[in-house]
Amino acid sequence: MEEKRIEGLWDCVYCGRTGIKARFGECISCGRARGIETVFYLPDDLDAATLTSEEKAQTTNEPDWLCEYCGAYNKSTATCCDKCAGDRESSKSNYGMLHKLTGKLFGKNR
Ligand SMILES: [Zn+2]
Ligand SMILES: [Zn+2]
Repeated sequence: MEEKRIEGLWDCVYCGRTGIKARFGECISCGRARGIETVFYLPDDLDAATLTSEEKAQTTNEPDWLCEYCGAYNKSTATCCDKCAGDRESSKSNYGMLHKLTGKLFGKNR
């Protein structure tokens, strides 16, 4: 059975934009970083949200991490912050929490 990876969605609490894809760490309308308390949900159309094999190859099951210095989201593969070059080590405490919240981690067999 092939594992599907569904991309979750989140809503911006600042400007009210809804349905932002999990791949975006910042709101596509107002540009603010999503908060650590952001709740992800599954889209109605699961087929459309299923990542292609190319997209799957670009994502991992590792959690994204949040920079403690500037609050930017960074991919699991980044060793220092994309924005301010802050050290990933300092943000270690965030890993577990973000792992649970990261929408792209939803795997579904059907
Ligand atoms: Zn926004
Ligand atoms: Zn940073």
